This record gives sequence, structure tokens and C-alpha cells, in this order.
Amino acid sequence: MLNLILFGPPGCGKGTQSARLIGKYQLVHLSTGDLLRSEITRGSELGFEAKKLMDQGILVPDEVVIGMINAKLESQKNTNGFIFDGFPRTIAQAAALDNLLSEKKTAIRALLSLEVDFDELIKRILLRGKDSGRSDDQDPEIIGKRVNEYNLKTAPLIEYYKKQHKYYSILGIGSVDEIFQNLCSVIDTLK
Ligand code: ADP
Repeated sequence: MLNLILFGPPGCGKGTQSARLIGKYQLVHLSTGDLLRSEITRGSELGFEAKKLMDQGILVPDEVVIGMINAKLESQKNTNGFIFDGFPRTIAQAAALDNLLSEKKTAIRALLSLEVDFDELIKRILLRGKDSGRSDDQDPEIIGKRVNEYNLKTAPLIEYYKKQHKYYSILGIGSVDEIFQNLCSVIDTLK
């Protein structure tokens, strides 16, 4: 199986690029942000609790997102692999993912880290907020909080995956096509 993590700060383009990668490599896209937003739309208890945190730019508890990912892995047994988008976001999530995959006799092949500078991130998120209406994309203070959470809790994953020799840095600036090409040229060396 080809299991990839698409990694990077909020607004770096993970969702856009995942949508293209699943078509080219026949992978299943697992975005914890999308899964949480669909819980909110469904009006579930989980969605209700998650929304309170998401609207403040705070991460949802590890057990919640790990449970959601586990359920999705179970329901998608016959796939070429997964693209994890927005997960893992903490060391505890990464360790849990390693365990879940090893129970299924598979593993993460690579973490692809999209590098985008801070000013560009803020621009992209505010633009997305206008189009999508996502409440956590519209307030510069909340966006700043999300970037803080990223730096504090998520950026340490870079070392975690470097130790496993699975870390790849990808230039995330340029057109959507150019960035897609940057990703594909790394993925094609993995296959
Ligand atoms: P972005 O990466 O652009 O911030 P996401 O849709 O991935 O957007 O995430 C939106 C929010 O959902 C996060 O700020 C966080 O509150 C919550 N969330 C998403 N994925 C996770 C995760 N793996 N762990 C904890 N919280 C998460």
C-alpha cells in the first residue's frame, strides 16, 4: 500500500493537492478536518463538541480524531493506499497511526511537507474564508491561534518522521499545477 501524509501548516494547500493526488494514484483521501466538519453538518454530539474547539482554533482531543481515522481505515480495506490530510497533528496521533497501520500489516511510506511562508498562508486562508464561509478562516486572531497550535504541537512531527527516514520537503509556492508536479516527482521515486 502507498500510505502518504500530506503535511504542513493551515492553508498550505493540503486539501487542494490531495484532491488531485487521489485521482492520479488511486488513493483514498482521509481529512480529519473534513470528517469533523461533516460531523458538524450532521449535527452529531461529536460535531457539537468539536465545533467549540475548532471555532477557537484549538485542536480537537487526540482520542476523537484517532477514533474517526480508525473507523475509516476499517471501512476501506481494498485500496491502493491512503492520503492522510491534517492527520496526524500531534506526536500521540502519529504513534497511534503507526500502531493502527502495523495491525493492518502496512505503514506510512512518506510524509510530504508543503513549505509555504507565513504571509502567503494568511492570504490564502482569508481568501478561502471568503469563498467557503468557514468560520475559523475569517478571523485573523483565530488563524494566528491555529498557526500557534501548529508550531507547538504539529511541527514536532517533522523530527518524528525524519527519524524514520520518511520526511520529504516540497516547495508549496507556485501554481497549483507546479506544486502538484513537485509532489508527483517525489512520490514517483517512492513507488
Ligand atoms: P487547516 O489545516 O486549514 O487548519 P483543517 O480542516 O485540517 O484545516 O482543520 C480545521 C480544524 O479542525 C483544526 O483547527 C482543528 O481544530 C480541527 N482538527 C482537524 N484535524 C485535527 C486533528 N488531526 N487533531 C486535532 N484537531 C484537528
